[in-house]
Amino acid sequence: MKAAVFKNLGQPLQIEKVPDPTPEATELVVQVAYCGICGTDLHSTREGAFAAECDSILGHEFCGHIAEVGAGIKNQWQVGDRVTALPFIGCGRCVSCVTGRPFECAQVKLTGMNIPGGFAEFVKTGSSETLRVPDGVSMQSAALIEPLAVGLHAVRIAQLKAGERVLIIGGGPVGLAVSLWCQFFGAQDVLVSEFAEQRLALARQLGATGTLTPGATLGEEFGDVSGGEPDVIFECVGAPGLLQASIDIAPRRSRIVPVGVCEEPDTIVPVAALVKELQMHFAIAYTRDDFETVIAMLGQQRIDASAMITDVVTLEDMPSAFEALRSPSSQCKVLTEL
Ligand SMILES: [Zn+2]
Ligand SMILES: [Zn+2]
Repeated sequence: MKAAVFKNLGQPLQIEKVPDPTPEATELVVQVAYCGICGTDLHSTREGAFAAECDSILGHEFCGHIAEVGAGIKNQWQVGDRVTALPFIGCGRCVSCVTGRPFECAQVKLTGMNIPGGFAEFVKTGSSETLRVPDGVSMQSAALIEPLAVGLHAVRIAQLKAGERVLIIGGGPVGLAVSLWCQFFGAQDVLVSEFAEQRLALARQLGATGTLTPGATLGEEFGDVSGGEPDVIFECVGAPGLLQASIDIAPRRSRIVPVGVCEEPDTIVPVAALVKELQMHFAIAYTRDDFETVIAMLGQQRIDASAMITDVVTLEDMPSAFEALRSPSSQCKVLTEL
């Protein structure tokens, strides 16, 4: 099969012929329809804790049709079924796996990290991590299930209640997914803070009640626009300094949910959070239930994120699109069409 292969740090992905995947007894092979490019993919081609192995295939936001069914699960799946999957293959038997948290399985394989991912014609998935995509959901929308699940998971971690006010720092795909779910759960103000003008326009298009420009007066601006203070702050950038900025803005007894991936050491002044009795609850990835909820809401047309898709590229054009995403752009979600 053809795949976009990560060769080494500092080199663009390369389209190569690689062996087709073969499923173990409880695995499926999916013919990829679309695979979204994620900030995490960009992260893993840079030096750091998340750096990918040479000759690996990235991509964890994929959907497609089943091409092959493992010997032990023939009665559960059929070739041609429309599916997506959590980008993990767990052992399927431990507490984490059976409760839908394969990310926490001690033996987990990470699709697009340490096993081949979706920037390829075919990708392997685990039977317990694979979910059907309803007929009413387009394959392009199905490629957004993973980023929408990231947003849903963060909003569930925040225990958001109807009527609360929300500040979202960062208007990339994660921030916009968080914004959609905050609206869904009835937040009265959902304000997105972001530098890039096109991203702010997209945030408004996707229903954010207002937008703000980052800076020292962000907290006051939030008050001017919303008439109140944020009950929850979502940090969806992952840059040093933003946890302290969130603490400084947060009113007493409010919640901060860091979702952005910051790999550098970062300093906070704990007493600033202590005197306000702030809660800080980090959020990563998603559970199987998060995926199921996203799929159900897409299937019932109760959430629409399709405006997040700003570009669709072929596999051949994907390496250059991938490089272009390293510098700030007007793009939001770029899908690779296989
Ligand atoms: Zn992702
Ligand atoms: Zn397990």
